[in-house]
Amino acid sequence: MVLADLGRKLNAAFSSLSRATVVDEKVLDATLKEITAALLESDVNVKLVASLRQKVKVKVKAALDGGSSDKSKEANRKNLVQKAVFDELVHLVDPGVEPYKPKKGQCNILMAVGLQGNGKTTTCTKLAVYYQKRGFKSCIVCADTFRAGAFDQTRQSATKAKVAYFGSYTETDPVVIAAQGVAKFKKERFEVIIVDTSGRHKQESELFREMVQIGEAVKPHMTILILDASIGQAAEAQSRAFKDSADFGAIIVTKMDGHAKGGGAISAVAATKTPIIFLGVGEHLHDLDRFSPQPFISKLLGLGDMQGLMEHMQDLATQNPDKQKEMAKKTRRGETKHPGPISKIASMIPGLPQELLSGSDEEGSLRMKRMIYITDSMTSTELDSDGAVFMDMSKDGKPVGLTWRVTRVAKGSGTSVREVEELLCQYRMMANMAKQAGGKNGWLQAMQKMQ
Ligand code: GDP
Repeated sequence: MVLADLGRKLNAAFSSLSRATVVDEKVLDATLKEITAALLESDVNVKLVASLRQKVKVKVKAALDGGSSDKSKEANRKNLVQKAVFDELVHLVDPGVEPYKPKKGQCNILMAVGLQGNGKTTTCTKLAVYYQKRGFKSCIVCADTFRAGAFDQTRQSATKAKVAYFGSYTETDPVVIAAQGVAKFKKERFEVIIVDTSGRHKQESELFREMVQIGEAVKPHMTILILDASIGQAAEAQSRAFKDSADFGAIIVTKMDGHAKGGGAISAVAATKTPIIFLGVGEHLHDLDRFSPQPFISKLLGLGDMQGLMEHMQDLATQNPDKQKEMAKKTRRGETKHPGPISKIASMIPGLPQELLSGSDEEGSLRMKRMIYITDSMTSTELDSDGAVFMDMSKDGKPVGLTWRVTRVAKGSGTSVREVEELLCQYRMMANMAKQAGGKNGWLQAMQKMQ
């Protein structure tokens, strides 16, 4: 994921801060300089970055001014700076507006608008799959009559996704198709009806007029603007242009997997006070991540995304178990370029080393696989334990070294003692996570079940 690069840079700034013995104005300035440089490289608007810098400074200045410099105070100051930066980063991507949430048992009409090539048709299918997986009877109406082949594209992807669809090869009026499709699916008691519209016209004014007409015909509960991340901060101008003509209530930013300007697009969009509801993170049907500001920043900084992780675990549980096994086998043999759940899960786990997420998906998958080999080599007693069995304890119960178990696991898994040690280091946090998930088994076992 390209944003991992931004996350790494922000983390590097926090690491420099935590290495400092005294947190004074100079250290704060140096930290903020690193953070602002990282944000600017991600194409975040310079004014927004300056404002973030100023707000963090104001927040921590009072704390820096007063107090002695004993060790606990320094730790508090570091926490204060980190908390202030975290809050301001959340603020940067938070429009402060709650999006519409489709309701079960009723008909929810969603209309997708956006320029051609932004990923509208792909996202419509992803959305239908997303809601279908959550128990909503979902379908797609293709009301794009301008682009030749638009209906074929919808038909193919909807068939692949096993989602109902509606469109026409003969009707040329998109308003008629939209109205007919929505009426049909309403009658059939579909709960999420997604209307895909055209993204191009001979003239821009015609495109906007058509969007308004379709909107009047189908009366969407939520109009979603689909934006391509590669336009970076220009996303603000594009979304304002759409907003002036055809109001929309939510945004999906696509191609977040492929562009370094993603941070710029997200923050620019937040400035328009419209909530982002999802991020497109790949070309596949399941490459759609739910977006909410706090978990997003948390994940970006390597602090995990508990909410997302729980949702993902639930998705896995509902998927066909045979398919899951097959996919995991392929991943272990290195036969798939899309480890999907595994690589996705890695970024959501609190405390997982950032290095694990670095490099390409393949590299990340390889590291993840080594972790799986390690857990494979553990006994069920070890997997069920709180990690203490791997430690030699002093008389007063303090860990003083590693037991023979670590060497055995390293040998058995074909990895190194250091790798096993690293995994164990993360263990405590993960054990907490497993507790929150309500399971008696640890995270290590959860990972094993995915194989
Ligand atoms: P539309 O013209 O807006 O309907 O765009 P399409 O849905 O046809 O998508 C245009 C191209 O973008 C296609 O090649 C899609 O596979 C690709 N695409 C869409 N969403 C994403 C995404 O999140 N990530 C990546 N990498 N490609 C995407």
